[in-house]
Amino acid sequence: MFVLRAENLSKSYQMGEIEVKALLNASFEIEEGEFVVILGPSGSGKSTLLNIIGGMDQPSSGRFYMMEEEITEYDERKLTEYRRNKVGFVFQFYNIMANLTAEENVELATEISEDPLPIDEILEAVGLADRKDHFPAQMSGGEQQRVSIARAVAKNPAILLCDEPTGALDFNTGIAILSLLRKVNKEMGKTILVITHNSDIAYMADRVIKMRSGQITKNYINENPMAVE
Ligand code: ADP
Ligand code: ADP
Repeated sequence: MFVLRAENLSKSYQMGEIEVKALLNASFEIEEGEFVVILGPSGSGKSTLLNIIGGMDQPSSGRFYMMEEEITEYDERKLTEYRRNKVGFVFQFYNIMANLTAEENVELATEISEDPLPIDEILEAVGLADRKDHFPAQMSGGEQQRVSIARAVAKNPAILLCDEPTGALDFNTGIAILSLLRKVNKEMGKTILVITHNSDIAYMADRVIKMRSGQITKNYINENPMAVE
């Protein structure tokens, strides 16, 4: 079953006289349970695409479906509902609340979701059960990213959207975070989409979608994705 389907998504920005085509006729499908990497250099249109999938922005043309629903015909109210329930976000710089503990950060996300998962189980699964009362300033970057993954998963979304999730971490911590995302994918069956400019991450994906100058240039399945431990 397809979780997500994009049909000819395009997005243009008008910069004075010049029209910038940030995204041009992007079409692809993501299956339930897939771990997908969208790979492309800076300026290739990854964020533009992610903003559309995440319900933060609408395309100039084209259609986008999540679980059979057409998101591109949603109004603002339905888009807000969509962001709260259907999508979990993981960012490069974690974006967790500094004045809340790990547990409270996760709790806050579950409060706006219609179908949240038990917070204790999620904190256990990401390896933070014994750090739940700690504040972000008391945690390492890798631990803060675990909090942000817990927060995203606890909403029980249809898909996790991860924007350069290892971009602020050293190599080994980055591997540990990728390994955690893989665990969430395999053990909890979550569909995961990672956008990155780091080609190493593509080796571990089930599917790789390559972008350049706003266009998808390749879309292939990795028969033997690299294991991350
Ligand atoms: P990436 O995430 O791969 O770095 P982006 O999606 O951010 O790429 O950008 C794709 C192109 O669209 C770039 O040329 C960028 O300058 C342009 N762009 C993105 N957002 C805007 C905007 N709000 N206004 C004008 N141009 C934009
Ligand atoms: P609220 O209005 O309750 O603050 P929203 O409905 O705007 O929340 O957002 C719901 C979810 O979407 C949140 O988990 C938030 O992290 C995410 N989100 C909202 N806006 C953005 C954005 N511009 N970029 C990334 N994520 C966003």
